Amino acid sequence: MTESIIPDDFDLEKARAKRSSTPDEKRKRCPECHNTSIIRKTSKPSTDRYEEGDWRCDICCAHFDEPLRGDPGA
Ligand SMILES: [Zn+2]
Repeated sequence: MTESIIPDDFDLEKARAKRSSTPDEKRKRCPECHNTSIIRKTSKPSTDRYEEGDWRCDICCAHFDEPLRGDPGA
């Protein structure tokens, strides 16, 4: 006889759905520091502080065209 360690009220499907709703592998990351705190630059390059790239990292202030997607360790 096998005892289940999963509670009776544990909804596995629900847990999976919840987990997949915020998949880490689909988060956009900074290619420099791999942080997810990146900002899409929506304003026009009207200031002299403009640097190339559509995105800016809020952590290391790197500018880049395309954020990393997926696990940087993969
Ligand atoms: Zn960064």
